[in-house]
Amino acid sequence: MLKENILSLLNMSDVLNKYNIKIRNNMCSCPFHKDKNPSMKIYDKSFYCFSCNRTGDIIQFVQYLFNLSFVDAMKKINYDFNLNLKCSLSKEEKKHFKKIQEKLEKEKLYKKQLENRKKNKFILYANLYLLLKRQVDKINKTITYENWEEQTEIISNLQNKMEILNMKMDLLY
Ligand SMILES: [Zn+2]
Repeated sequence: MLKENILSLLNMSDVLNKYNIKIRNNMCSCPFHKDKNPSMKIYDKSFYCFSCNRTGDIIQFVQYLFNLSFVDAMKKINYDFNLNLKCSLSKEEKKHFKKIQEKLEKEKLYKKQLENRKKNKFILYANLYLLLKRQVDKINKTITYENWEEQTEIISNLQNKMEILNMKMDLLY
């Protein structure tokens, strides 16, 4: 089986060297996000990032690194390392890899939807915030000696609401 062959022939360090990712003390900078201090732990045949929690085997690493399907990642490894393994897959393997790919795509889609929902919420909060700010400015202009107590209370109420919106926006990002 192609997968088992690749996993038995290569170590994570081979893959990292090949794609110019530096390892120090079995750690490297996670290539899947900005990572100043290396947070990815490298094992013989697998990896784990303490920052983004991404984990997997050698093939999955290549898959994520080059944004490939699992099967294409195996083909790439086969080619890049001159392993000369037969790349044809059995029916079960094809089925299995298709399932993995589908799951991955579903996750991607879900993440995107979540991101969109967050963005929409942020816009909503920001608009509300502006609206409240305009109200505060307006009231500020109309404060007189006679109404200042009442107006100040209204303003402070509005400012409380603005602060809550601010916190909600902070929580989103
Ligand atoms: Zn990471």
